[in-house]
Amino acid sequence: MIHNVLSIAGSDPSGGAGIQADLKTFAANGTYGMAALTALTAQNTRGVSGVETVPPAFVQAQIAAVFDDIRVDAVKIGMIATADIASAVAEVLSRHPGVPIVLDPVMVAKGGATLLDKDAIAAVKTTLLPLATVVTPNLAEAGKLLDLPQATDRRGMAKQAAALVGLGPRAALVKGGHLDGSDSPDVLQDMHDAQWLDAARTPGRNTHGTGCTLSSALAAHLAKGATIHDAARAAKRYVTGAIAAADTLCVGQGHGPVHH
Ligand code: PLP
Repeated sequence: MIHNVLSIAGSDPSGGAGIQADLKTFAANGTYGMAALTALTAQNTRGVSGVETVPPAFVQAQIAAVFDDIRVDAVKIGMIATADIASAVAEVLSRHPGVPIVLDPVMVAKGGATLLDKDAIAAVKTTLLPLATVVTPNLAEAGKLLDLPQATDRRGMAKQAAALVGLGPRAALVKGGHLDGSDSPDVLQDMHDAQWLDAARTPGRNTHGTGCTLSSALAAHLAKGATIHDAARAAKRYVTGAIAAADTLCVGQGHGPVHH
């Protein structure tokens, strides 16, 4: 049986991040991908030049239409853009308990453009975080969700992962790709313990869409019935391979995408 995965996220017309990355990742990981849009961005590999958000009621209508007709085996949430969209998404998803949800709390694009309003961080924290099976922040996002300075070492990462689980999700995967050093450690904390997922840092500047790719691969594996730990390990392997394969692409002059 092919499992169905729904992405609730923004569009990146250059194909590197957002729903475009999510759909490629779902397909590459053996699942059927669907996408409800929260926002359109105008962007290329050099940066974001515009954002238009979808009215919250219409975000809800897209998600409701999918659930009304199709078995959804997992959901991935990416760019949420505004507090009203966060509340709308939480409201419609809370009608479907039991579906695994991966929340990638996207806040800022690689070039610095804001993808989540300041007041929306609080809404994500109170409405979406408690619904999540796994939340997948990078170091900056973990700090912002907790209102703490960004962690600078493994000890700090582990502490913040535990604090995030205290806010309601079943597990938190804090990504250490921006730590100083030659490795790229992630920590996965659930209700019981913390485990480290280590990988050597992959050289190359083409890392646009890595966060989207990791969270979507995680959702695909949860959809297929993997445990959170197995899904996180498989997702980390997949994204490491996608970064390594990125050099085969010739896409744009800036921060290029990973390859699926
Ligand atoms: N979602 C959208 C629509 C984006 O435009 C971006 C970045 O530009 C992201 C998510 C996050 O991208 P990344 O996976 O590189 O963190």
